[in-house]
Amino acid sequence: MDINSQLNHLRGSANVTRKVVIGGVEFGGPDFAVIAGPCSIESEQHLLETGKAVKKAGAALLRGGIWKMRTSAESFQGLGKDAFSFLPEALKSLEMGIISEITDPRQIEILDPIVSAYQVGSRNMHNYALLTELGKQNKPILLKRGFGALIDEWIKAAGYAEKAGNQNIILCERGIRTFEKATRNTLDINAVVYAKRHSPYPVIVDPSHAIGIAELVPDVALAAVAAGADGLIIEVHPTPKLAKSDGDQTLDFAQFENLMGRVNRILTAIDRKLIHA
Ligand code: PEP
Ligand code: MN
Repeated sequence: MDINSQLNHLRGSANVTRKVVIGGVEFGGPDFAVIAGPCSIESEQHLLETGKAVKKAGAALLRGGIWKMRTSAESFQGLGKDAFSFLPEALKSLEMGIISEITDPRQIEILDPIVSAYQVGSRNMHNYALLTELGKQNKPILLKRGFGALIDEWIKAAGYAEKAGNQNIILCERGIRTFEKATRNTLDINAVVYAKRHSPYPVIVDPSHAIGIAELVPDVALAAVAAGADGLIIEVHPTPKLAKSDGDQTLDFAQFENLMGRVNRILTAIDRKLIHA
């Protein structure tokens, strides 16, 4: 019996985690995968450089925003449609799948040939019309937790996509808003273990948005690995200070490589393996 089967056995009445495959990478099984890349894709060169670096360090999949949900309408909103002139070629040369946020069901047509999974962002967790539309698609959904949502509301939101026909859903804990202001959000590690036990979905963690401070991202990422998350999604940029969004919480290549070495050591200790691209 592998370690996950043993854990499920010990959990007794708990749900067995469903396996969800994104671009050939399995989440919710015995192994562990890391999704990494920029908050926003800034140019072809930027995506290629970042993609090569995260792949070399052990990431299985890329992340990268095309349409961004920014607090201010004056902030960079992502390249939008302009990104599609280079995305197919760039992804082909990197030989990596990408996960990107969908902010409007009208983007499905243009995104579908490009992404390996649709990310539903924290601000859209309650957008049941969007979740229902994604439920009719064939691609997996990465459902981030609303920053003010209860765990139960998050799990039930996944039910909208599921009811519309899509069972391939992964939950992502990305920090919630609490009274604490020292960090951007508060990583709710309870949510990781609770959702693993009380939902059928794999659960991954986004330590970047959870803590919001690059130098502290690795330590909370390791806590998520130890707590039994099925994967991580991490923001990485060649020069975080110059990033067009979320630079303060973004790792540079050396920091990411160092983190991956530490992730591997925790995985060895809990009898799991890292899935490579
Ligand atoms: C992101 O992944 O860049 C993002 C905007 O995440 P969230 O929806 O969790 O804020
Ligand atoms: Mn971001």
